[in-house]
Amino acid sequence: MLARPHTLALVTTRRCTAACDHCCFGCSPTAQDAIPIERLHGLIDEAKRVPSIHRIGFTGGECFLLGRDLVALVAHAHELNFETRAITNGYWAHSERAARLRIEPLYLAGLDELMLSTGTFHQRFVPVERVALGARAAASFGIRTRISIEACDQSEFDAAGLRASLADLAGDGSVCIAEEPWIPDAGGRGASALSHDGILTRELAERARGACAQVLNVVTVTPRMQLTACCGFPNEELPELGIGSVAERPLDAVLSESPNMLLQMWLHVAGPAGIADFVASKDREFVFPAFASICHACVAIQRDERAMRFVVQHAGEIVGDIAARFAAAQPQLATASPC
Ligand code: SF4
Ligand code: SF4
Repeated sequence: MLARPHTLALVTTRRCTAACDHCCFGCSPTAQDAIPIERLHGLIDEAKRVPSIHRIGFTGGECFLLGRDLVALVAHAHELNFETRAITNGYWAHSERAARLRIEPLYLAGLDELMLSTGTFHQRFVPVERVALGARAAASFGIRTRISIEACDQSEFDAAGLRASLADLAGDGSVCIAEEPWIPDAGGRGASALSHDGILTRELAERARGACAQVLNVVTVTPRMQLTACCGFPNEELPELGIGSVAERPLDAVLSESPNMLLQMWLHVAGPAGIADFVASKDREFVFPAFASICHACVAIQRDERAMRFVVQHAGEIVGDIAARFAAAQPQLATASPC
């Protein structure tokens, strides 16, 4: 594979303190899948042999459930000169003191960035006050801090209230707060009907129509130790995004020995809407709606059997162009040979 990923995301465990509706990994307090701690350290070492990777992200499930092991993993990655990021729901920040006690060891271990997730579905398990306390603690140590808020028509979350409570930190740039579409779980585990008609701005729709900035730039190891080609919400549910198992084989070998996949390269250069446009050029009846999230669009195109049949039938017409555009987008690559 000729991809040059810059980030390795480790979905350390499927266990979580929450069980948010539409969680893309089906996480919950009773979920069992997890990457063994020793294997996580091995994956960090193997990532060092992939020259393009410069960032390691720790996520889940809830990676803070790893406790001291998370601190050791961050320290290991930091010692190897990786940038480090952790993603959490903030359950641990039940007081200012508790928040600082959890963040300080991670800061000393070299944590560069903390991302907290919240919103209507998260706050049923983790009060938003904890997210604000966690963000304050991280920012006080100089850790880059981001808060991602679920956005959908069904949201009852007081985003303005959270922004107001952190206005001082948002104002000086030490905490960044953004709303991201919360999309239906591609694994079919979600209970609530989700829609985005009311939040579908022109800007969101245009973002969802562009190239995917994640695929083959960020690769992910799932709790079942499958390497996937992106970190998008549905990456575990879309077989075409699979790269291979790293349960028994080193990450760098799996990456370098895997074939270049047309669909992954196509998403990289044109996104799901680019594939849909190609299908529409062959099939005038094919209509691809506007989506608020590029990952939602990605599920729709990959699960459209008719569209995928057209892609397979006409792949020969496009593969050379996609491969050339993909190769041109990779540093120090002249050609790519898809299969
Ligand atoms: S906090 Fe995140 S990982 Fe945990 S259940 Fe909710 S969405 Fe899933
Ligand atoms: S658009 Fe598709 S390839 Fe890109 S991050 Fe989302 S699921 Fe992954």
